Amino acid sequence: MPDDERPPICARCGVTMVPAALSADEAHGGDWVCLECEELDEDE
Ligand SMILES: [Zn+2]
Repeated sequence: MPDDERPPICARCGVTMVPAALSADEAHGGDWVCLECEELDEDE
């Protein structure tokens, strides 16, 4: 089983992030999004 499919944890609220594809906004395919913050995990 691939070990890189584990969802990251939101650095802001600490909840498990979900694939952006599951969010209402599908414009960010392949990225993770926090349903609490509704923001992408972008550090840069
Ligand atoms: Zn969050």
